[in-house]
Amino acid sequence: MNRVLAIILIIYILGYLLELILDILNLSHRKKSVPAALTDVYSPDRYKLQQGYEAESTRFSILQTTISVVFIILIFYMGWLGALHEHILMLELGNVLTTLIFFAIISLASSIASLPFSIWSTFVIEEKYGFNKTTPRLFAVDFFKSIVLTFFVGGILLGALTWVYFATGRWFWLIALAIILLFSLLANALYSTVIVPLFNKQKPLPDGPLLNSIKGLGDKLKFPVSKVFVIDGSKRSTKANAYFSGFGKNRRVVLYDTLIEKMSNDEILAVLAHEIGHYRKRHIWINYLLGAAQSAIMLFIFGVVSQSVELSVALGFEGATEPVFHLSLLAFSVLFLPIGDLIGIFTNMMSRKMEYQADNFAAKYGLGQYLIAGLKKLSAQNLSNLTPHPAYVFVNYSHPTLNQRIKAINNEEK
Ligand SMILES: [Zn+2]
Repeated sequence: MNRVLAIILIIYILGYLLELILDILNLSHRKKSVPAALTDVYSPDRYKLQQGYEAESTRFSILQTTISVVFIILIFYMGWLGALHEHILMLELGNVLTTLIFFAIISLASSIASLPFSIWSTFVIEEKYGFNKTTPRLFAVDFFKSIVLTFFVGGILLGALTWVYFATGRWFWLIALAIILLFSLLANALYSTVIVPLFNKQKPLPDGPLLNSIKGLGDKLKFPVSKVFVIDGSKRSTKANAYFSGFGKNRRVVLYDTLIEKMSNDEILAVLAHEIGHYRKRHIWINYLLGAAQSAIMLFIFGVVSQSVELSVALGFEGATEPVFHLSLLAFSVLFLPIGDLIGIFTNMMSRKMEYQADNFAAKYGLGQYLIAGLKKLSAQNLSNLTPHPAYVFVNYSHPTLNQRIKAINNEEK
């Protein structure tokens, strides 16, 4: 077997095994009874339900990952990617179009392959635990809309990057970085006004006590909130959420209708104070810079690695005389996994720290106990894992566990 291909496959399999071990550790770390701090929101029956949900969804995700890993190894090993490239090459469409068609075929194939899993997860697992509100018709419409959106947005970005790659040579990584950063700013700015409306309806929160107290909170925290919207999350799932989006004048608070239904006004205010804490402590920009640093590292290494023709040969294009952009990119996406995992552990660590700071911010304004009550309700409503394994948390969690957050808020208030 080709040596580079062997390295790619070994890295891929090791990454899979690591994820598998963490999943198994996490499953085995479940506790028989409700943790003391949460007995008020979890009845023994509801807790049993949570344990079932946790086990079933983890096992299902292990099954899905395993099947996809087997397929991907087969595809790499058989050299089908190289063969696909050779077929597209015969159309003589030029570099950019060849890359776009290559990835269009791969992403369409992967969307179709994951469709049965997504159907099972929505209509069997989520349904069984009472979360699912998606109708088959809505599911189908969502599926087609996401494919069209991915092709459109992904096509523009990938087309631009490919063009830059062939036009600039060694400065590729720097120009590509600028494009990606601009693109992510733009995506953030347009998210609420262009992308969300494709899938959901957002209505301004009607006048009333909730709107008044949200505006009051904004004034008190010196963070004016002029746009507050309610989104119809309930049309897909009973799970609840709230978030801020956009920058400056376009900033808006979005509350799920499911959240308003489940939480008291004070609890909603506490959740918003936490979100405002993220803005006031500049976490949004820190995250943006972290993302930029991560992209810079990735693009720089890719710029170097992609000069090698061996990656294209390893993926099955045996007649390659010069590196093929999209084959290099695919091979690189696997070779980069260990570095990506390390970066992920670091950014999760930073993120957990920022979550504590945002909780702390809400607690400073006297909303700590409401925040605890709200988080508990969210956790019980969403059947979140109450006792994840510490190793799993270390690698995968962007937020501290509920128990850790409650402890930290209570300590802050002492
Ligand atoms: Zn947060």
